[in-house]
Amino acid sequence: MTLPPGFLRTAPLNRETTWSLICRIAGRYGLEAAALRSCWKWRSHQPRHDGGGGRADAEVLLNTAGRQLLAGLCGVEEGVLARALPSWGREDARLPAGDGGEPVAAWRTGGAVAGPVAFGCRLCTAGRTGTAGRAVLYAPRWKRVCVRHGRWLLDADADQPHEYVDVRRLPEVVAAQRRWAGVARRAVRAGAEPERMFALAHAVVARWWEQALHWEREKVWPRRLHRVAGGDAGGDLEWWRIVGRDAVIFPEVVAVADALLDPGMGKLVWVDSGRAASSAMLLAHLQQPPSPASEATTADEPVPTPASVPPLRRRTSWRRRNASRERWSHLGRSTGRTGRTSWTPR
Ligand SMILES: [Zn+2]
Repeated sequence: MTLPPGFLRTAPLNRETTWSLICRIAGRYGLEAAALRSCWKWRSHQPRHDGGGGRADAEVLLNTAGRQLLAGLCGVEEGVLARALPSWGREDARLPAGDGGEPVAAWRTGGAVAGPVAFGCRLCTAGRTGTAGRAVLYAPRWKRVCVRHGRWLLDADADQPHEYVDVRRLPEVVAAQRRWAGVARRAVRAGAEPERMFALAHAVVARWWEQALHWEREKVWPRRLHRVAGGDAGGDLEWWRIVGRDAVIFPEVVAVADALLDPGMGKLVWVDSGRAASSAMLLAHLQQPPSPASEATTADEPVPTPASVPPLRRRTSWRRRNASRERWSHLGRSTGRTGRTSWTPR
């Protein structure tokens, strides 16, 4: 495509949200995204958080004329956009069908269109596009580590300002990202769905995480949590426990997923709907259990199903941070055994 003089080409990133691309196009011209929005006729209101701020995981669906307009604005062929943007060509009842007519757009949230969305690594984005700025991408929860820059990329649907947590001081998290690729391949060879395995392993470990506050001998997770917090989560422990959880537990999630591929363990978990396999047995398969199994679980406890662990990120907004901190302080005092929680900085 030959662009008119003065037009700048803006290539899409792989699995980028269409709204993220529109924002980056505007940024190339030094404009606010709102200035480009007037190019389309909108059939709904922009998704916002309760506090009024625009959601970073907002997504845009376009009719045929709307897609042609966007292709012209970024100077990229529609076929390239169709391969890069998961929401490209998705239909919406609010959009007029067929060719012709005026460019029309409808808002959605990314999670409702093509799965979880996360912030892109700004350093990688700058390297690929030559311009600094935010990008929002569709990314499964087992693919959140930027191995090159040591960043765990956060979900984009939460009402909080951070795009990533720094895991450069946690080489085990980066190593787990590499290990997951092998686990996923083994899963496929074994006839299991990597997505389902990851979800089950995540549910198991997330439950340990909820219990671990009361494990006095637990040292691995508190150490990691304080490191992602820059050395000491301190008074923001509750907030960091929510925002940092998935990064901190990732090595154990991958290890449990790997353990689930053990023929005996897999049989227990999958054939018996997960009821026969206890967390204690899973712990026994881990090379580095996060805490003594006897404190972690009871032997007959059923493995939680993935649905039993709600997405933690929605529980606390940035604005409710102080209230949550007070609740967590109370929990910390109530452990009772030593009068202090093992999660205090050391
Ligand atoms: Zn990066």
